[in-house]
Amino acid sequence: VNRVVVAGAGLAGVRSVEALRARGFGGEIVLLGQERHRPYDRPPLSKAVLLGTSDSSFVDSDLASMEVDFRPGVSAVGLRAGVVETSEGDLPYDGLVIATGADPITLPGDGQQHVLRTLDDALELRARLVRGARVVVIGAGWIGAEVATAARRAGCEVTVIEAGPAQLSHAVGAELGARTLAWYDGIDLRLDTMVASVDEGGVRLVGGEFIEAHVVVTGVGVRPAVEWLAGADIDLHNGVVVDEHLRASLPGVVAVGDCAAWWSRRYGTRLRVEHWDTALGAPEVAAATLLGEDAVYDPVPYFWSEQFGHMVQYAGHHPAGARLLHRGEPEGKWSACWLAEDDTLAAVLAVDRPRDLVQGRRIIGAGQRMDPERLVDPDVPLRDC
Ligand code: FAD
Repeated sequence: VNRVVVAGAGLAGVRSVEALRARGFGGEIVLLGQERHRPYDRPPLSKAVLLGTSDSSFVDSDLASMEVDFRPGVSAVGLRAGVVETSEGDLPYDGLVIATGADPITLPGDGQQHVLRTLDDALELRARLVRGARVVVIGAGWIGAEVATAARRAGCEVTVIEAGPAQLSHAVGAELGARTLAWYDGIDLRLDTMVASVDEGGVRLVGGEFIEAHVVVTGVGVRPAVEWLAGADIDLHNGVVVDEHLRASLPGVVAVGDCAAWWSRRYGTRLRVEHWDTALGAPEVAAATLLGEDAVYDPVPYFWSEQFGHMVQYAGHHPAGARLLHRGEPEGKWSACWLAEDDTLAAVLAVDRPRDLVQGRRIIGAGQRMDPERLVDPDVPLRDC
């Protein structure tokens, strides 16, 4: 391998560069980044940056010392075997890392919709979150909840519109989502409500009601950013299809981060996880694979969110039908565990209980069985259940 092209200069992209160099790869590395910024972390965008306690979140990574040919503002636009087509011409490669992440979904309508994916998005939105502004947040998922947090703190009048029966229902189910209801005190929360369009001056609901807004933020999910691969001879299905080594169907190509749907040995299914920890960890395996080593990516997925003054953390992967058990009451610090049929721990959600998260993640990794009766007592440490 003489030249590796890394398409996408987000966390997964820059970590791929680091992992290649850490493994002694001495060839040329070209890092293509559609944005004009050097690589940065996204989690702070909806937290510290939106709250105004920080203006940026650049990754602490010395591109110059890694001798990477970083090309900001250059996009990958197409792929043929051995050649990445870019907005500035063809670029031959021996190895290719696809790390183009994901793009926010927007809704129909001519009104202005803010999304929150990039640093520029965050700075633009922050400037609009001023005292008294009427803000409509569409989607009560992770991003929606964090935006609502910042908007409330800025003194805005906030409406949150959610199509599902509860906040976070898409991610953790309605039963757990409903446990966060008290956090929405002072917010006009509309559940089971569908937006028809974002129009000038506000949001039109299905059914006709119009909700006026100065600022509309759409946080209804993302799509893997793989349109540029549409004409290429590479398997795509909910992102770039890769095996447990993160290898794509086209030789010499690996994919990592939000755009990659990998085969999980642990769960016996394909996973695409849009979380920071995946973008952090997967590049080690992808780099090894690209350099001909035998490495497998098989994590217990992990995620966190900071909303309404609470730390929400999730580890694992819960299949539909997994048994849900509660530890603690929603008024205080609580967590919840999903058990598989054989009483092994499938996933844990912890609210302000970081120990449950840390212990749960370890237990999931070890495939340990739990005692359901002990588990529902929040005073018994998870590791003793
Ligand atoms: P990205 O970060 O999306 O990076 C991909 C990069 O590729 C982008 O810079 C993009 O411009 C570029 N690109 C796209 N297409 C092309 C192309 N054709 N050519 C060249 N470049 C291209 N996760 C958590 O676990 N906890 C959190 O609290 C959390 N908070 C978040 C808050 C926000 C506001 C957002 C947006 C995400 C958050 N996440 C969080 C998710 C986490 O940030 C992502 O999982 C992570 O950024 C994925 O990294 P990535 O490198 O795969 O993709």
